[in-house]
Amino acid sequence: MDGAMRIGIGYDIHRLHEGRPLILGGVQIEHEKGLLGHSDADVVLHAVSDALLGAAGLPDIGEQFPDTDPTYKDADSKKLLSGVVERVCERGFVVNNLDVVVHLEQPKLSPYKEAMAGCIAELVGVSSDAVNVKAKTNEGVGPIGTADAIACTAVVLLAVTK
Ligand code: MG
Repeated sequence: MDGAMRIGIGYDIHRLHEGRPLILGGVQIEHEKGLLGHSDADVVLHAVSDALLGAAGLPDIGEQFPDTDPTYKDADSKKLLSGVVERVCERGFVVNNLDVVVHLEQPKLSPYKEAMAGCIAELVGVSSDAVNVKAKTNEGVGPIGTADAIACTAVVLLAVTK
């Protein structure tokens, strides 16, 4: 299928909690709270993983890496994403580009966006200009607005290679 493309969307949300490191897009962010979860709770890499799986027509990360499985306790989400990329490539797809929105009230992500895009790009096998990371506040509304949670939405375009 020459030139065929597949689009996918991923979303995730985790609660912020004291005494946890904040890791977003594979990058450690300086903040007094981090995200709570069975794995390292990297909400960005989880949304990216689900976008890839969605585009490839594969089951979501909750099914592939169940949070009831002790193997994934405190798991490095970079490894989870690498596993996802492997499965997506096996199905005959390559990543064309990725667009990411992180929904958070604080901290400001401007100093980290480039490193996050670089890390995601390396993990999915594209150049960093094929990954865009944006941050949006929730204008004080809801659990994201009160800085009790961080969410992420990711959209990916896959090219069909076979
Ligand atoms: Mg998650």
